[in-house]
Amino acid sequence: MSKINKTSNSSELNWEKKEWFDRVVTWEKYYEIPHISIPESELKSFQYSIIHRSIYTNSKLVKAKIISGPIRCTFCNIDDENIEHLFFFCPKARTLYMQLLDYIKSETNFDTSALVLNPFNILFGFLIDIECINAINHLFILTKRFIYICRCKNETDPTFGNLLKFIKFKIKLEKMSVSPTENFDKKWGRLGQAFVGGDN
Ligand SMILES: [Zn+2]
Repeated sequence: MSKINKTSNSSELNWEKKEWFDRVVTWEKYYEIPHISIPESELKSFQYSIIHRSIYTNSKLVKAKIISGPIRCTFCNIDDENIEHLFFFCPKARTLYMQLLDYIKSETNFDTSALVLNPFNILFGFLIDIECINAINHLFILTKRFIYICRCKNETDPTFGNLLKFIKFKIKLEKMSVSPTENFDKKWGRLGQAFVGGDN
């Protein structure tokens, strides 16, 4: 039984088979998120690669016979490394998302209670109407990008300190390239101060 009233493509069908996939989703809305929240085309493509399940993980590399093993997660070395594990179920990834929310809350007093960490929100984005939602989706996609970069470099302990440096660098570039500046301020609102800082 199809969970949506259109023909799903193969990657959507693969997602829909997951045991945690327990809701009706409108995929179009998830495809819109990178388009509206990210200015950088490389990062947009990265998020589309997650949705299309075309990210290379150890499971995928073994299945494609590119490597013979190991199949286990680069970070925790406990479970198989597939997309949902690497970006959501891995305890090391989960810790980074929690630290990101704690940082947002402590630096900006932002109410993060609506930002529930579940596979849908983390893998595909938050479909909620709250202040700075485009900035929040951008931050979570940057976090996944950071996780993937660490995985490819075989860095087994991704730290929040390094994640924050990575995010700040990217957001600073966005601030320099967005014109007029009001568009940047409109997107980032009070979150901007926590990720750009007072030095520019
Ligand atoms: Zn893991």
